[in-house]
Amino acid sequence: MANPSLAADCPRCGLRTARFVDHCRNCGYKLWPSGEMASAAFQAWRAADPDRTLASRFDLQIPHSVDNTVDFAARAHELGIHLFPNSNWPIIICLGALLLGFAAIPFPSAPRIALAVIGGLIFLYGVAGWVLVEDVRMYPSDSAGPGTEVHH
Ligand SMILES: [Zn+2]
Repeated sequence: MANPSLAADCPRCGLRTARFVDHCRNCGYKLWPSGEMASAAFQAWRAADPDRTLASRFDLQIPHSVDNTVDFAARAHELGIHLFPNSNWPIIICLGALLLGFAAIPFPSAPRIALAVIGGLIFLYGVAGWVLVEDVRMYPSDSAGPGTEVHH
């Protein structure tokens, strides 16, 4: 198990192929007497080194886990793109709109008025929260003193 390579040159066609798959990927030449043997050899090879745990029999190279998480906020700031901060207020606004929608159904008038009032209040609460509270935090006015700046 000293050979660290996952790929080998096929003895028949000479092309690169996975070493622990029993047939050559290019010409179908039988590299191993059986698939079970190839699999057992692969498992022994993989167990020999903890770096090989991510490898698959079908890989030609040992894959390396790459941290490809992206901080989109930082990236957007770098590129000068304004991103709106995350907000839960639209959910409240939708809830209010839902109740207002129920109020539009021609039920007897008493429950419709109650629905319209409750829905309208929730809707306005959501709009106020989004526009008056968060928007102000998003675009702090110039008169805001030091320490009130919001980092996002
Ligand atoms: Zn071949």
